[in-house]
Amino acid sequence: MAAAGMATELVNTAPGVWHGEDQLPDGAALAVFAGEHGLSGEDDVDAVHELRDRLRAVLDLRDADDIERAASALVARGLGSVGLEPDERGRLQWIARPAADATLADRLALIGGVGVLGALRALGPERFRDCASDTCSGVFIDTSRPGRRRYCMPDLCGNRANVAAYRARRRASGGLS
Ligand SMILES: [Zn+2]
Repeated sequence: MAAAGMATELVNTAPGVWHGEDQLPDGAALAVFAGEHGLSGEDDVDAVHELRDRLRAVLDLRDADDIERAASALVARGLGSVGLEPDERGRLQWIARPAADATLADRLALIGGVGVLGALRALGPERFRDCASDTCSGVFIDTSRPGRRRYCMPDLCGNRANVAAYRARRRASGGLS
């Protein structure tokens, strides 16, 4: 489910999500993000921003057929070939390989699209959710086993909501702060 995680992470680098600022403002930031996902490249900032908007539109969908169609279009954009490769335990798995001339944005489209399709088929459209934080416009795919995730970035949005709730309780009970 790493590919679905990449899709969530990329979408939530957009301005307006948690920090408010664009987390992929330039080639240097993009190179770091790409490196974290086993890719390289930094020249593609505008194309990646455009892809980010398209991927966001996919994660905003809540109907399984709509998600399937939109994610398939993303996969088609970067797909070169599909083949069987052994995983670390020697079991064969289908692998989607990017086209030889695929740009970084095309490769991210392929990974994100495959991740969305895999999560949709394994977990269902109800795992596509809005962040529960009042101050965050993020979205995410919940790939956790229990499926009870509420925040796009649990460490950030979840804590912030907890802090806000704690302060509100203190105020309500007249406690000193
Ligand atoms: Zn959030």
